[in-house]
Amino acid sequence: MGRTSRKRHQKKKLNIKEITENEEHSLMYLKSWLLTKNCSSVYNLTPFNFFTTGRGLKTLKDIKINDILIKLPYEILITTSILSQSNVSILFSKIQYYSAQCVLAVFIIYESHLGNASKWHYYINSLPRNLTNPDFCTQKEKNLLPKFIIDYMDEFHKVCNDFRLLIKSMNNLKLNGEGHCSHCNLHLKKIITFEKYKWAYYIVNTRAIYIDEAEIETNQNINIKYPNNLALAPFLDLFNHSIYSTTHASVVTNKNGNKFYQINTLNSFNSESQVFINYGAHNSLKLYIHYGFFIPYNPLDEIYFDISDIKVCFDIPKFKLDFIISNNLQKNMAFIRDGLNYNAICTLFIMNTQLQRDHWNIKIYGNSLTSEDKIGIYNMAKLILNFKKNELLNHLINMKELKYCTQCFSIAINLIEEYITILNESYNSLCMFH
Ligand SMILES: [Zn+2]
Repeated sequence: MGRTSRKRHQKKKLNIKEITENEEHSLMYLKSWLLTKNCSSVYNLTPFNFFTTGRGLKTLKDIKINDILIKLPYEILITTSILSQSNVSILFSKIQYYSAQCVLAVFIIYESHLGNASKWHYYINSLPRNLTNPDFCTQKEKNLLPKFIIDYMDEFHKVCNDFRLLIKSMNNLKLNGEGHCSHCNLHLKKIITFEKYKWAYYIVNTRAIYIDEAEIETNQNINIKYPNNLALAPFLDLFNHSIYSTTHASVVTNKNGNKFYQINTLNSFNSESQVFINYGAHNSLKLYIHYGFFIPYNPLDEIYFDISDIKVCFDIPKFKLDFIISNNLQKNMAFIRDGLNYNAICTLFIMNTQLQRDHWNIKIYGNSLTSEDKIGIYNMAKLILNFKKNELLNHLINMKELKYCTQCFSIAINLIEEYITILNESYNSLCMFH
């Protein structure tokens, strides 16, 4: 994961993934391969570098509401049942349970090492070699990431736990003189390394779709943890995400009894424009952690603060704090572009009010805050906001001191800059109320 970028060269332009010439070739091969596999729906879609998003899919014809975006035959979806056809199934001991992510990741690594001998090589070659989830930051970079990013990076321990199980199994095979690849005679221990496992795990995590577990053939030789509902879907993973897109996924069967995974769009797209799907209602932080990117102006973004942030700026009398906590108002308090979210307003009202306690409930649950209440709340909010903003600015200064950084780290810098923009908008909204 060594892609470096000069820290200075991204002023306003976000770090986006562009298609290199090599990738373009592999994507065209992938498309041709799919066309031979009864997958005509990809005919009018073509990979393209878009200015705002980088790599994405362009439609070559007008797409109307309810049209089929993509229709993939079931046999080109990669699910855990594929392992029954793979040499690598020997790795999965019958006494352990494995996650679907783990099984698919191992399959991807093994097929990837087969090169062109893999039946799946057109798909494997289309997969990005470098991922930009924060987990791919160097250790030095991770040490500089703010807590609010680190705290949500919960996949890393799963990667480590999975790999520990795999190592155990590979060692057992080795002791018994088993586990050599029938294609190159290398031992699996040499093929499935931690670095490759981490890459493949994230490939699965960022690109798999969910399908009905009943549609996946069970493999009697492997124990797979519930829910076993993941599938890798070649080409489908090239669609970019838009929060404003709506799609409908379904399984359809044609008159010959062949099953397809189909996505219909509930939006329209003009010919020559980018086609989007929706990965879910994710805020920027979640998009960055799980998919390795984010999109500015996401309406779901909120900048959270907690009681300890308030305490830096104000004393909280115990009877007020008790009320706030017993009503759960301190949870998910946030600055939003329009000012403050509901819990933040309620908490700051309690902090600021001179009223007796028996009036508090009607004020916060009865939607009866006066202008005077609001001015008090917003003035407190502005102080807390400045404290949060300074915290982010300090992170930014430290992070920008790194002379060379990975692309994943540059995206973290962009994310913090986006957060500062949101705080500025929130501040302006708070000031508009007099
Ligand atoms: Zn081999």
